[in-house]
Formats: sequence, C-alpha cells, structure tokens
Amino acid sequence: MARPADVRGLAERARRGEQLAVARLLSLVEDGAEAALREVAAALAAHSGRAHVVGVTGAPGVGKSTTTSAVVGALRARGRRVGVLAVDPSSPFSGGALLGDRVRMGEHATDEGVFIRSMATRGHLGGLAWSTPQALRVLDAAGCDVVLVETVGVGQSEIEVVGLADSTVVLLAPGMGDGVQAAKAGILEIADVFVVNKADRDGAGQTVRDLRQMLSFAERTGEDAWRPRVVRTVAARGEGVDDVVSALDAHREWLDRTGEGTRRRRARAEAEIRAIALEQLRNRIDDLRGTEAVPRLAERVLAGELDPYAAADELTTRLSAPGR
Ligand code: GDP
Repeated sequence: MARPADVRGLAERARRGEQLAVARLLSLVEDGAEAALREVAAALAAHSGRAHVVGVTGAPGVGKSTTTSAVVGALRARGRRVGVLAVDPSSPFSGGALLGDRVRMGEHATDEGVFIRSMATRGHLGGLAWSTPQALRVLDAAGCDVVLVETVGVGQSEIEVVGLADSTVVLLAPGMGDGVQAAKAGILEIADVFVVNKADRDGAGQTVRDLRQMLSFAERTGEDAWRPRVVRTVAARGEGVDDVVSALDAHREWLDRTGEGTRRRRARAEAEIRAIALEQLRNRIDDLRGTEAVPRLAERVLAGELDPYAAADELTTRLSAPGR
C-alpha cells in the first residue's frame, strides 16, 4: 500500500499526464481501500471538475467498444486529451490488465494523450458507486478534456452511469428489438445523444424512425430543454463519428449555458457524500461487533424496556457522540 507521500507524489505526476502515475492511482482507487481512496480524493480535490464526462451505454454487441475507440480517434484529431473507463459490473477480474486494455484500443495504445482503463466493480456496494467517481477524478486531474465511461447495458448500470456523467450516449443497433427495449429500460429519459450504430445494416432507417417517434411522445418541454440528438454511425468504418462528437459538444455547450451542468455536478456530489456517509455509518456499526453495545440494547428490548426503534436511536446517537 502506498504511503501518503506516495499518493501526493503520484498525484503530482499524474497531473503532468504521466501514464504510469495515472495507472497507479487508478489501481489504488480500484482496490478500494478506504485509506487510499481518502488520500487520492484529498490530493486531487482541487484539480478536478474540468473534464466532460460522457457515459456510453447500450446492450452487448451494439458496438460500444468500436464506437468508443472511433470517438477517441475523432477527439484526438481535434487535439483533445481523452480518458476511457470501461466499467464491467460483473467482471470478477481486476482491471489491472493493462495489456488487455491496450489491445482492446489497439490504435490508441501508444498515444500519450489517451488514458484507458477497464474496471471491475466486483464486490463494491452499489457497483459503480465506489471506485468509478474516484477514477473519473484521477483522469480529470490528469488533464483529460473528455472522459468516456463505457458500461454494459445490463441491470442498473445504465441508470447508474447517468449519475456519473455530464452527457449520456445510448447506443442502439438495428434489428435488436431496441425500440421496445429502450422504452422498457427508461433510456428515453436518460439519453442525451442516441447513436444508431451499424447503419450499414438493414433496418437502420426504421430504428431511427422508431426512435424519433418515441422521442416526439416523450418531448421535453420548455424553451431551453435539450432535445436528444439521434446520430447514425457505422463505427466499424468511422462513419458518423464526427457527428457524435459534434452532438456531444453541443450538449456540453447546452449544459454550460443553462446551468444544468452545474446542477448535475451538484447532484452528483450530494449523492457521493451521502453514499460515503452511509458507508461510514455502516462500518462503525460493524465495528461494534464483538463489543457489548448491541447485545446490551438487545437485552433491554427483550425485557420490554426499549422498543427496537428507540434502541436503534440510542445506537446511532452513540455513534455520532465523541468518545463512544
Ligand atoms: P460492444 O459489445 O457493444 O462493445 O460491441 P463491439 O464494439 O465489440 O462490436 C460488436 C461487433 O459489432 C463487432 O464484431 C464489431 O466489429 C461489429 N460492429 C461494430 N460497429 C459496426 C458497424 O458499424 N457495422 C457493422 N456491420 N458491424 C459493426
């Protein structure tokens, strides 16, 4: 485990964009040890908040990896620094597999302006909730203009990614029954940009029409409301990828102009504070295992002196009192 001085040193080097230092910090936050998470957060707090965080989600096979890689290329062509976090909520493997990441994004492997990481969120309560915000902070502090967070569209993850991202891209592909899926999963509400990938396949036009129709039903009202863009791509050939970048730039501009960006960031900070505070309370209650505190309260409940709510109140009061 790194000592405090190490974390500060790493943070400084990461801020200069050193790949190795960024990779080490990402490993620390992924390991999830509280002491390290605290140090990293403290070292980077003053140096983040600049990157445009873009969530990319969609069902397996729609072309997330291909599209992400192509978008990275388009952003690099515009001279921007890019971070990529591929989050797999189910993977039992550690994300330290640097080689795998490099192979996966082959063409960007040697580009010093691209930071790539796969993260497993195994075992962490709340999946994305723990390591990912910290990993975003690392990439942000490393000077990334854009950080793409790619998640597999299963279960809660596409909803969770919304909480992390400034802008959310939902990928669909023709012939996957996506229209219905989209409506079911509630992604019409969460997507800022829809990408209909595999536009070289039959049915792409129909998918776009279905999507537009559903969006017209779900139209967000208000003069300043963002109207989700629908972009067609053939990611495998790089077609339409510039339009994805333009749509994201337009969304970022809208976030800045309307104040919605600040609102989202504030909501994100609030959620993070609540999550950390809850975790700390839970840990402190767990720390009481092996002491007599809870058994004594239980005796009083059994004896009819206290009800369980009153007992829990006593416990939580004691947890926040000094010298408990
Ligand atoms: P992911 O699981 O969502 O990350 O999807 P991938 O990016 O791994 O792509 C799944 C498959 O679709 C791969 O075989 C890609 O080569 C292919 N693919 C990606 N984009 C396109 C496209 O625009 N057109 C076609 N025909 N195939 C594509």
